[in-house]
Amino acid sequence: MLKQIAVKSSSRNQLIDITGDVAAVIKNSGVNDGLCIVFVPHTTAGVTINEGADPSVVRDVLSKISTLVPLSDNYYHSEGNSDAHIKSSIVGCSLLVIINGGQLLLGTWQSIYFCEFDGPRNRKVYLKIV
Ligand code: ZN
Repeated sequence: MLKQIAVKSSSRNQLIDITGDVAAVIKNSGVNDGLCIVFVPHTTAGVTINEGADPSVVRDVLSKISTLVPLSDNYYHSEGNSDAHIKSSIVGCSLLVIINGGQLLLGTWQSIYFCEFDGPRNRKVYLKIV
């Protein structure tokens, strides 16, 4: 079963909590026990799991990634978004999450974040439920 969710980013670098969207798709799928592959089909974005309770964690993650990978750094790629490509590779473009009892099996403090590194853009996330 392949599903898709739409994500609209509003700034160049942004972590967007998509936990509720993923949970809703899983609930509607009727799958009780299984796996969900969360796949981002973009080269300047990614997906990660981190704390959803304190928003300053996400701010720190984004801030540190941007310090490690600056916007300008004598890159070869002429499109001007090399930092976004590098950040995408650091974060990764897929996750595997467990479906247990018809729900996402996440830790108490965990949320799923779409990672935008070259926004604002309209993006999509594929969910493969097995
Ligand atoms: Zn590029």
